[in-house]
Amino acid sequence: MAKREGHVFQVDSDSCFGCAACVALCPLDALRLEGLLAVVDQGKCTHCDHCIPACPVHALAIIEEVDLPGNNRLPELVAQ
Ligand code: SF4
Ligand code: SF4
Repeated sequence: MAKREGHVFQVDSDSCFGCAACVALCPLDALRLEGLLAVVDQGKCTHCDHCIPACPVHALAIIEEVDLPGNNRLPELVAQ
C-alpha cells in the first residue's frame, strides 16, 4: 500500500501500555519501544496498516496530519 499523503501514523500515548505486539508485527522495523510506549519512525512507516488491528487497546491509527493534537506538524512532513 502506498503511503497516504497528508497522513501520519499515530500512537496514542495515553492508551499504549508497551505490550510490543505492534513492534513485533511491523515488517519494516518502523516501531520500537521506549519504556512502555511504542514509538514510530515516520520515515520508515509506509502506512501498511499491518500493525493496527493487533493493538489490544486500539492505540494505533493513521490520521490526517491536521488532526494531530495542537495541529503540530512533524518536521519531516513540513519539509516535504
Ligand atoms: S503501519 Fe505498517 S509500516 Fe507502519 S508501523 Fe504499522 S506495520 Fe509498520
Ligand atoms: S500494540 Fe498497542 S499497546 Fe501494545 S505496544 Fe503497540 S501501541 Fe502499545
